[in-house]
Amino acid sequence: MNSSMTVILATRNAGKIRELGELLSGYGMQTLGLDAFSGIGEIEETGSTFEENALIKARAVARLTGHICIADDSGLEVDALGGAPGVYSARYADDWHSCDGESRDQRNIRKLLLTLSRMPDAPRAGRFVCCMAAVKPDFLGGDELVVRGAWEGVILESPRGENGFGYDPVFLDPELGKSAAELSGPEKNARSHRARALHLLMERWQGFIEQAENPAS
Ligand code: IMP
Repeated sequence: MNSSMTVILATRNAGKIRELGELLSGYGMQTLGLDAFSGIGEIEETGSTFEENALIKARAVARLTGHICIADDSGLEVDALGGAPGVYSARYADDWHSCDGESRDQRNIRKLLLTLSRMPDAPRAGRFVCCMAAVKPDFLGGDELVVRGAWEGVILESPRGENGFGYDPVFLDPELGKSAAELSGPEKNARSHRARALHLLMERWQGFIEQAENPAS
């Protein structure tokens, strides 16, 4: 692997840039987030799957920066809801009014729990999913790689724990008997959908990069 390779992370989320940057530096890669590039506007996630959305972002940023780019898309799938909120996880309850002082995450959780409470016999199985896409710019061959990491769990009836973000307080890891919000950062990173996706991406990274170094092969 080319130790001086710079890979662009298609996000402005400082937490993601730091977390992924740290993980990828262990693989000899330097990373830059979108905050390092002025003039790249919002890239709309118009896909209907996590894979599509990750690819849309990675393709756009590879084209705009001329660097290999990694993008991810993630969310929660609940079986009883046919996979919802899925790719709409972040904006799931945007059609609901906020109660006093309620954050977007809290409103999403309120909608999810209320919806499931109206289906008392429904199974509560669900999973966090993270798809990661790596895309090369055209002059390196334009190759694409997409992986999916999943973290299986159960949706709790009420929130537990103070850590994490999003749906963490209502996502139970049955093996640990703890919600994702009751895990420390390192504990969550050892099991999460994002960590699994990144691991799968890195398993296939060498082959992907060698194509870049020998585009004719
Ligand atoms: P994005 O991939 O950053 O767009 O995340 C989409 C949404 O999925 C987030 O806003 C959260 O609602 C949810 N989500 C993704 N990953 C997690 C997680 O690790 N914990 C809790 N919620 C998550």
